[in-house]
Amino acid sequence: MQITPHVSLKAYNSFGFNVHAEYFCIVTSLAELQAAVSFAKSEKVPLLMIGGGSNLILVADVPGLVIVNRIQHKAVQRLAEGEYCVTAGAGENWHAFVRWTLANGYNGLENLSLIPGTVGAAPMQNIGAYGVEIKDRMLSLEALDLQTGEICCFTAPECGFAYRDSFFKSREPGRYLILSVSFRLLADVQPVLDYSGLGDLLAGEGVAQPTAVQISDLICRIRQSKLPAPEQIGNAGSFFKNPLITEQHCTELLQRFPGLVSFPDRAGFRKLAAGWMIDQLGWKGRREGDAGVYDKQALVLVNHGAASGAQILALAGQIQAAVVERYGVMLEIEPRIYPDGNLTP
Ligand code: FAD
Ligand code: NAP
Repeated sequence: MQITPHVSLKAYNSFGFNVHAEYFCIVTSLAELQAAVSFAKSEKVPLLMIGGGSNLILVADVPGLVIVNRIQHKAVQRLAEGEYCVTAGAGENWHAFVRWTLANGYNGLENLSLIPGTVGAAPMQNIGAYGVEIKDRMLSLEALDLQTGEICCFTAPECGFAYRDSFFKSREPGRYLILSVSFRLLADVQPVLDYSGLGDLLAGEGVAQPTAVQISDLICRIRQSKLPAPEQIGNAGSFFKNPLITEQHCTELLQRFPGLVSFPDRAGFRKLAAGWMIDQLGWKGRREGDAGVYDKQALVLVNHGAASGAQILALAGQIQAAVVERYGVMLEIEPRIYPDGNLTP
């Protein structure tokens, strides 16, 4: 493991922002990670762990040490007949891991296919898609506590999971470096097909009882048709969370905007489709220089080439202001903004 000064992070963030890390390294083992952490401590500099950089807005050069996690391993333990604990190192590529589980008959992660990034970042925002979140499949994770230097284990209920959120993202950002994640996966397929017409699409293809691989394949096709591949056009997926509002607020909004798209959520609340509101306001496909709104999905902001993180945030601010003005709802940014002024040495 080599620590190198002044390295461009363009290839390490999916927006493709050309900012630089003061120091940079790639770790492939716990020992290398501990050595990197010791370096940051002895130099008294902050550290930032990056997996795939697909949920990050790097707004400026990054002070201190950027550690890219490439700790890779997989293990399977049988829990009961047809029930397995599957563990993966934090630096495994998420989608490759999902496809590996399916190829080996460990089902349950199929709806989360083709989400960019790494296994270790997945619990950070409780990744979710097509009606499944990793909290529904996760057993536990191991993490290095930077405050104590100890390795600790968190069960899924201890992670404070919520919609695109966790204890690690919002309560203790930067304190824990996730080392590995364990999932409870099944030999049986338990399809979750009630989102976005997945069941109808499969039925239309003559598939009545889909395998997990067929579900994964379908989701990959849908995602490829709707979402920009970061290798071709920089982005971090959904830029805003879907806001949760009270049933009463939603009823009031529906009177004024009968087409408003919303879904039931926890008792007394509904989730608004943020993309629908942004689209209605005419933002889809618009650009301000190289910062733009994707033309097939208004929730995704894109870098057409040379946009900076600050320019993307300025565009996001205009969208937030327009949504507040029309709908009275503030959109919350989903990816992590860094540096954020709260750097922990
Ligand atoms: P990074 O961007 O590298 O890091 C994200 C945050 O986690 C940072 O704060 C970082 O410091 C921290 N972090 C990373 N690794 C670790 C670790 N090992 N230990 C501690 N902290 C760590 N998200 C969804 O939920 N659902 C989707 O369907 C979805 N679709 C997407 C589609 C596209 C095209 C893109 C570009 C993004 C999408 N995302 C989606 C967002 C993103 O892919 C996920 O949040 C993913 O889990 C981020 O992984 P990463 O390794 O790239 O994280
Ligand atoms: P979509 O299917 O066009 O749906 C639009 C929005 O409506 C989604 O955000 C989804 O909320 C919600 N929705 C749709 N059907 C629903 C249902 N039956 N019950 C409750 N909510 C429903 O969305 P899309 O953009 O193509 O994305 C498909 C899935 O991938 C979604 O789950 C989305 O979250 C996920 N995705 C996430 C990111 C990211 O970066 N976070 C990027 C791309 C796609 P939810 O978002 O709460 O699921």
